Amino acid sequence: MNERSMTPSQSPTLTPSDIARIALKRLAELGLPPTPENYTKFYNAIAAIKSPTDKSDEELKSAYQVLFRVSDVLDGMSETSEVLLEDLLRGSEVMDQSLDALRSSHDADTLEQVLSTLIESTGSVRQTVNASHRDLQELKATMDKIQSDLAINRKTLEQDPLTGALNRQGLEHLLTREVKRARRANLPLTVGILDLDEFKQVNDRFGHLVGDKVLMHFSSIAKAVLRESDVLVRYGGEEFLVLLPETDLNGARFLVDRLRQVNAKTPFFHHSQHIDIRFSTGVAQLKQDENGHAMLIRADEAMYQAKNSGRDQVIFSD
Ligand code: GH3
Ligand code: MG
Ligand code: MG
Repeated sequence: MNERSMTPSQSPTLTPSDIARIALKRLAELGLPPTPENYTKFYNAIAAIKSPTDKSDEELKSAYQVLFRVSDVLDGMSETSEVLLEDLLRGSEVMDQSLDALRSSHDADTLEQVLSTLIESTGSVRQTVNASHRDLQELKATMDKIQSDLAINRKTLEQDPLTGALNRQGLEHLLTREVKRARRANLPLTVGILDLDEFKQVNDRFGHLVGDKVLMHFSSIAKAVLRESDVLVRYGGEEFLVLLPETDLNGARFLVDRLRQVNAKTPFFHHSQHIDIRFSTGVAQLKQDENGHAMLIRADEAMYQAKNSGRDQVIFSD
């Protein structure tokens, strides 16, 4: 298919030069100087939205729209506060002048004049404050709407479309948050990496679509076994990750055992033919002196040990 005949949802992935062009265009539209910092910020933001998976153009479009609305609102906000500041400054000048006038003269006429100037000036400041208050309320309503849109948007951007599990980008956010939480509250945090055994054979024997169904089947079993606070991530093609807050190695052992039992009792059938699903697991618990990524690396190494020791088993990293 050539590019001309492509529908919008089939457009090719953005190249770095496409991203650079969009970033520069966006800077120009917002009237921001193309300094290296601004350019890098926009380049990374656009690349981050584009990179995680092959998201449809519709999803990307709504992600961009949200970004644009945020910058519009911020522009509006700075205008409002400028007007408010100007009025307040003007008000305070009038106040200073009136005080000077009061100091230098004490006759009734001047006093009356000063008072009426002051009343007028405070009235005008109050009007501006009221107007700004209304503006700010409108801005707040818009921000609230954007926030809820962003939440929905983040959910789509961070979800694996096949299994509904979190994708790797979602894991990045979650891992940072959970590691912080575990440290703050001095609670255990454990991760398990589960890789389906000989999955290539499933595809080879039954086809890729059946392979996809097996992945959906396995992820629904995993979701059923996990607790509310545990999270299932599609870590790779036929590789899943479970992040288990407030869980130590014993808790993880219990979970993996249970997953093996439920998996064994819930066979997958394709045209009445049983497709056996087995998996190798590596488990690691967060140590005092390591970050989340180091924990993932240890879990990954443990998973490879499980593969090398004959598959269909679980290995716990020290
Ligand atoms: P091992 O026990 O060593 O893990 O063997 P394996 O065959 O599972 O591992 P390998 O890495 O050799 O192959 C992974 C296979 O998973 C190959 C790839 O086609 C398949 N796969 C990855 N993602 C998907 C997917 O989204 N759908 C389907 N149907 N298959 C996938
Ligand atoms: Mg595998
Ligand atoms: Mg694999």
